[in-house]
Amino acid sequence: MVEYEPVIGMEVHAELLTQSKMFCGCSAAFGGAPNTRVCPVCMGLPGSLPVANGKAIEHVVRTALALNCQITPVSIFHRKNYYYPDLPKGYQISQYGDTPISTHGWLEISVNGAKKKIAINRVHLEEDTGKLFHIEGNKSEVDYNRSGVPLMEIVTENQPPPGLDQITSAEESREYLVQLISILMALDVCDGKMEEGSVRCEPNISIRPKGSEKFGVKTELKNLNSLRAVYRGVQYEVERQEKVLHEGGKITQETRRWDDEAGRTYVMRTKEFAHDYRYFPEPDLVPMRFADEWIEELRKSLPELPAAKKQRFLRQYGLSEYDAGVLTTSLDLADFFESAAKEYGDAKAVANWVMGDLLKLLNATSTAIRDSKISPSHLVLMLMLMDKGTISGKIAKAVFEEMFHTGKRAEEIVKEKGLVQITDESALLAVVDQIIAENPKIVDDILGGKDKSLMFLVGQVMKSTRGQANPKLVNEFLKKRIEEKGV
Ligand SMILES: [Zn+2]
Repeated sequence: MVEYEPVIGMEVHAELLTQSKMFCGCSAAFGGAPNTRVCPVCMGLPGSLPVANGKAIEHVVRTALALNCQITPVSIFHRKNYYYPDLPKGYQISQYGDTPISTHGWLEISVNGAKKKIAINRVHLEEDTGKLFHIEGNKSEVDYNRSGVPLMEIVTENQPPPGLDQITSAEESREYLVQLISILMALDVCDGKMEEGSVRCEPNISIRPKGSEKFGVKTELKNLNSLRAVYRGVQYEVERQEKVLHEGGKITQETRRWDDEAGRTYVMRTKEFAHDYRYFPEPDLVPMRFADEWIEELRKSLPELPAAKKQRFLRQYGLSEYDAGVLTTSLDLADFFESAAKEYGDAKAVANWVMGDLLKLLNATSTAIRDSKISPSHLVLMLMLMDKGTISGKIAKAVFEEMFHTGKRAEEIVKEKGLVQITDESALLAVVDQIIAENPKIVDDILGGKDKSLMFLVGQVMKSTRGQANPKLVNEFLKKRIEEKGV
């Protein structure tokens, strides 16, 4: 049987964080009552003229620089003509051909320890469309609030030059998107919210016999609004195409919709081609010329990007590759970690709490780190209570959760709930003796050399003190008492 290799292209649209729309002064904010953020320009009324948004152009150039792209000295806009009710002008202002704002970039990803520099074909600028609502009784309504919101498109290169790669698996597609979104958020050009449609991803997938240079017929996927959907959608499409070819069938070039609930794709429409859009230069907008000094100024003012931050975390805090990777996927998470690590000193301990308990609680409650009630100092104060022996590691977990929900300080919670660790020797010895008396067989095992059984007894003592015993002391006392028995 022929073995196939997938080739995956990624088209990512990102809504840019600007005050106003791309070609008019209307608010670009998300939401609003339908058709309250509109004007003659973004409703396509005759006689209105567009004016390009300088901030949006700057956002695209900064993104392009962060993605190692070359900036095109003179870049122009085009009209992409097609008729659809959510597009009031009858065309979308976009960029076509060899004059997008930037070309020839790359983005490094790492999957299972294997690094790849994914080639990027272009980063360009266009405008968003309105939104259609299909309601009962064959009626539809349209909201033009999103019409004309600046949209950046980032497209990967399907014929990478030497030294660069392309995406060849579902895992890599997901990782590419994770890294791309983390860069957009670090640059503060997009809020990165896939579920609100701020980032939309349309992968195209084809497969070809391993080692072959020729591309197979590709299909494009729509409606992927989470990282998980991207992974599952791409994986499904690769497997579907393999099945079709193995059965002697043919792949049709088409756009398919991903159904997240059903876990499968459906045909939406057969693929349209570029000439269907009758692209031509937009006559109402002047060409954009980028001065070298301006580009250099922007390059110098780029913030520390996730990849560089990861390298610094490896060096400065001695974290593992994995930990540094997780902590730098979001700027807020990295800042939280770094501020606590600096204050506390033991970076590894801080990383464990941030990546473990904090991330778990943030995910479980769908809370963004900047909206959570816990601060880096809260975590540090709690770690210090553990160091002093006031609370055990087990109690700390409960305290942490309480801090997360209430924003109270660890000391306050410990006092309120009477969670102070039992360090009183006689009290602890009494419990230890009782557990030893209740488990004669285990004690014999330990005396017989089965050291691991000691952990069971430690567990029993912790259980009977509801986690409030100091595990170090428990260990010590158990060993001492059992040794005395053996003599
Ligand atoms: Zn407008």
